[in-house]
Amino acid sequence: MTKELTSAYPALRASLFQKMDLPEEFKPATLSEGRRILASMSVARRGLSLAYRVTDGGGSSDVNEFINFDWTFPQYGGRRVWFLCPRCGRRRGVLYMGRRVVCRECLNLAYPCEQSRFDKGWALHGRWLSRIKDGKPKRMRWRTYDNLSAKVARRAVSRMQPFLASMRRRGLVGQTTLPDYMGGG
Ligand SMILES: [Zn+2]
Repeated sequence: MTKELTSAYPALRASLFQKMDLPEEFKPATLSEGRRILASMSVARRGLSLAYRVTDGGGSSDVNEFINFDWTFPQYGGRRVWFLCPRCGRRRGVLYMGRRVVCRECLNLAYPCEQSRFDKGWALHGRWLSRIKDGKPKRMRWRTYDNLSAKVARRAVSRMQPFLASMRRRGLVGQTTLPDYMGGG
């Protein structure tokens, strides 16, 4: 369940730029998720520069990162845009915005211990969640459903907190980004 690890970081998807008519010269834009502005950026055909602030208990730091685009030309026609990960240089569809902007592999390389501890706790949580994620199943009693929902929420919060705290200490995440159903915001 590596998905939850990366949910602590806003994801930046190359597909976002796929259909954009990218200018030759850099043009300013903002990157937002819902109503939250994630970063300001300048974008051009050759890549984008991102600027945002990571805030934690110990203070905040400004991140400035340049990401090169790479283009491939699939056999079925058209062209596809990719990022080149600023850390490993490999072609990636998604990068994550922490203190640096990196791909999932680079993120996991940097924090392998948090990753495995994190995964174990999430296995049980995932089983509970899979039973109720689409709402109350017809045959389940409301009491069982309520108990499971409460357990999922409590476990999510208690599992997330140490992990997020350690990420926050390293300045990698600003605020808690728990999904709504886990009681975060
Ligand atoms: Zn990488």
